[in-house]
Amino acid sequence: MIRIAELAENYGSGEVRLTVWQNLIIPNVPTAFVDTVKKALRRIGFDTKQSHLRSGFIACTGNSYCKFASSNTKGHALEFMDYLDGRVALDQPVNVHLTGCPHSCAQHYMGDIGLLGTKAKVGGESVDGYHVFVGGGFGSNQAVGRQVFTALSAEDTKFTLERMLKSYLTHRENGESFQAWSNRHEVGRLQEMFADG
Ligand code: SF4
Repeated sequence: MIRIAELAENYGSGEVRLTVWQNLIIPNVPTAFVDTVKKALRRIGFDTKQSHLRSGFIACTGNSYCKFASSNTKGHALEFMDYLDGRVALDQPVNVHLTGCPHSCAQHYMGDIGLLGTKAKVGGESVDGYHVFVGGGFGSNQAVGRQVFTALSAEDTKFTLERMLKSYLTHRENGESFQAWSNRHEVGRLQEMFADG
């Protein structure tokens, strides 16, 4: 954050804006310095170009810093993005919201895909996991997501996301959005399609 503040001061107007999509904007950078700032940001792990998959992910604080969290939302968001990017080629954003508890700071119910933290059982052990929702939206597409899976382990959630996104790309019509596509189907039919991938 200190390096970002320095970049904003040295090349912009000393201003940094944070967005609801968990991105940051350094405004008022003259065109001549844009490439320099991009390179400096890449060096500290912030890319200015993102895939449709990565740009749609947001996560709440999770169990690193929040006592309410049932799962490591931010860690899993990074893990899921790394796994899915390159395996699923999206041509438009699909919003994936990971939230660690029902307080829903990352608003799982309005993501194309919403993940609500919970504990899951694996071999008698309690592990981080997620309930999975689809079809939420906002603005002119406002809708509350419907639950399609219950208490998957985080590991299972990762593979399930892959099957869900591949299933969407296979079955959608005329380039429709994930939300439009998923909301055309009953939960049972979605579960069948998601099982096939
Ligand atoms: S959704 Fe729950 S776990 Fe996540 S930051 Fe908010 S209160 Fe904490």
